[in-house]
Amino acid sequence: MFTRNIAKFNQALGFQRSSTNKQKLQPGSGRSISMRASNLSHFIAGGPTSIDDASYNSWVVEHPSALGSFDQMMRAAKGRKIAVFLDYDGTLAPIVDNPDLAFMSDEMRSAVREVAKYFPTAIISGRSREKVKEFVQLSNVYYAGSHGMDIMAPRRPVKSCDGKYHTIALDKKGNEVLFQPAKKFLPAIQKVRTALREKVMKIQGARIEDNRFCISVHFRQVREEDYGILEKTVKSVLEHYPEFHLSWGKKVMEIRPSIEWDKGHALEYLLDTLGLSNSSDVLPVYIGDDRTDEDAFKVIQGRGQGYPIIVSSSPKETKASFSLHDPSEVLTFLLRLARWSKSSSSSRSLAQIWGVVD
Ligand SMILES: [Mg+2]
Repeated sequence: MFTRNIAKFNQALGFQRSSTNKQKLQPGSGRSISMRASNLSHFIAGGPTSIDDASYNSWVVEHPSALGSFDQMMRAAKGRKIAVFLDYDGTLAPIVDNPDLAFMSDEMRSAVREVAKYFPTAIISGRSREKVKEFVQLSNVYYAGSHGMDIMAPRRPVKSCDGKYHTIALDKKGNEVLFQPAKKFLPAIQKVRTALREKVMKIQGARIEDNRFCISVHFRQVREEDYGILEKTVKSVLEHYPEFHLSWGKKVMEIRPSIEWDKGHALEYLLDTLGLSNSSDVLPVYIGDDRTDEDAFKVIQGRGQGYPIIVSSSPKETKASFSLHDPSEVLTFLLRLARWSKSSSSSRSLAQIWGVVD
């Protein structure tokens, strides 16, 4: 039903998803040009397009490029309230071997800053809120860390529509914290972390990242023959903590409290906080690359309008309607979005619309 809703919405906007869809071939899409160039080299070499290229190209037909579709997307967005949600790793910053070094570029930072001047903007990450804020360094965006289990508004928050979820507290630096649904798990999380540190750190290359409300065990630098023992070790620790569960990301295991709260719930919560949850003219734009972002894509599909955009350089099963190839295409998309909002005669700055300051 979700897919049907968004399909209807896309159809109404003129985004047909069929094998005859030519979205990806529109001029102006960097990827379309590079795909054509790569295809061309095959022709010059006299060989066929590679299987990888072919399967990616057919996947993109189903999930058109958000760059190639940009003009149509924005035509449909005119007069509606856009809210922007961004994952961090693999979306705003490239995935790197050492997660502590996943810095975003200055260009990306300034693009996000520009977008946030015009649209309410939130960064939703699996990292701790403090860590992702340290990377992003912007004061005019919402931060939702620990997969949305730790949400903080800009210092001058916009008005809540009904405040039904609010448990307002102050963090160490005196910033207002809006919502921490897993707060009661904090003491147990500390125990799990200590136990994991003790056992997992014996495996060469394994790294534990404390994301406050969840714990990541990175194994990007672990030898493949040790994957089995690492998994067994993590599971043996979790046997003593049945209130936690294990999920998998890109070369990372994540241990989270078993509560019904994910990036999709965080998206709904933020829309609610912005007073947008019941508005029929709201268009959430959500860009992410991870399996955990699928929960947010599903929420947008359920709303029947909005733009779920997956960042991926290879075909994958997704609830997203649109795609971007990599963080550099995300940058281009954000720059175009900021430019579009500036030039749009009906748009006003976020300060005027939402009462948020940079
Ligand atoms: Mg990610």
